[in-house]
Amino acid sequence: MTVPTEVRGGVTGIAMVGCSATASPTAQAKGRRREVVVSGRRVKTVDVHAHCAVPEAMTLMGQTLESSALLMSSTQERLAAMDAQGIDVEALSINPYWYKADREVARELIRIQNERLAEFCAANPERFVAFASVALQHPDLAAAQLEEGVKKYGLRGAGLGGSVNGLELADPKFHPFWAKAEQLGVLVFIHPQATGAPTELEHRLKGNGGLGNVIGNPLETTIALSHLIFEGTLDRFPGLKICAAHGGGYLPSYAGRSDAGCVTFPERCTRPLRKKPTEYLRQLYFDSLVFTPEALRHLVAETGPGQIVMGTDYPFPWTKTSVDHILSTPGLSDAERAAMLGDTAARLLGVTA
Ligand SMILES: [Zn+2]
Repeated sequence: MTVPTEVRGGVTGIAMVGCSATASPTAQAKGRRREVVVSGRRVKTVDVHAHCAVPEAMTLMGQTLESSALLMSSTQERLAAMDAQGIDVEALSINPYWYKADREVARELIRIQNERLAEFCAANPERFVAFASVALQHPDLAAAQLEEGVKKYGLRGAGLGGSVNGLELADPKFHPFWAKAEQLGVLVFIHPQATGAPTELEHRLKGNGGLGNVIGNPLETTIALSHLIFEGTLDRFPGLKICAAHGGGYLPSYAGRSDAGCVTFPERCTRPLRKKPTEYLRQLYFDSLVFTPEALRHLVAETGPGQIVMGTDYPFPWTKTSVDHILSTPGLSDAERAAMLGDTAARLLGVTA
């Protein structure tokens, strides 16, 4: 592949590691920590998309662990993976499986999880922060859990699924939660999940290729974000800081259609918005898990370089090259690469540089 001139220039200005001792693949293979330096500055890299699980809480819902790598007790394994990839800080989240829990079970389950998350982060403060889990099916409780998570447990925001028991995140039922998230000024990480409902779409996504994940997950995020835009949730709570997993699904890759829809069929757009649908992409945040330099280049073009934060999906092995993906994407300045690698996430999550 021919490398454009400006890319060569950009990459030349980037040292991949902080010192020669960690520069060689041999050193990395021996378990040395990779340190990322951009334009001579050591960048604290932050992974906003890293999963974990608390089995003690899962038993309250009869759930079993998908992978032992999700355990927070697998700390050495997790740290080794972070060190090899050049990731300094992980922002941990737990995929919601508790949206059908009644109020009392949800209260206890979330208390256990947020306590464990807080304990783990406190034991490893240089390497981990976490998003609070919240019982969004009980919005007032979720708002209280978020506030407690932030103020009492030092958690840095909340992790949500892409829908809640068939309701969109834009449903007015959830306004109390969004109001609290806006008031606290913390980041809300939206990650898709299997709904478990035997919908026609899920039926069509069966078969070879794991399409329920490959297509269904990004589609859920696309739908969730689109409703937050078109139902006016982002107008009602303009201070919200929302980060969408997997590059926001398909929304940024076909964003122009969101604008064209209301022009082509104005009778279908009965709720006036404060700005064009695509302009909301420039206030949302997106993780960088889009696999190719071309996809990341396009995501940046649609959303702005300051809206992208690094995401790996650890421990699910989608990628081991998130740092290199950002370093090798053409057309970015060193400041923009540093922002994506960690500066923006550090600011959003209260991670000190
Ligand atoms: Zn994930």
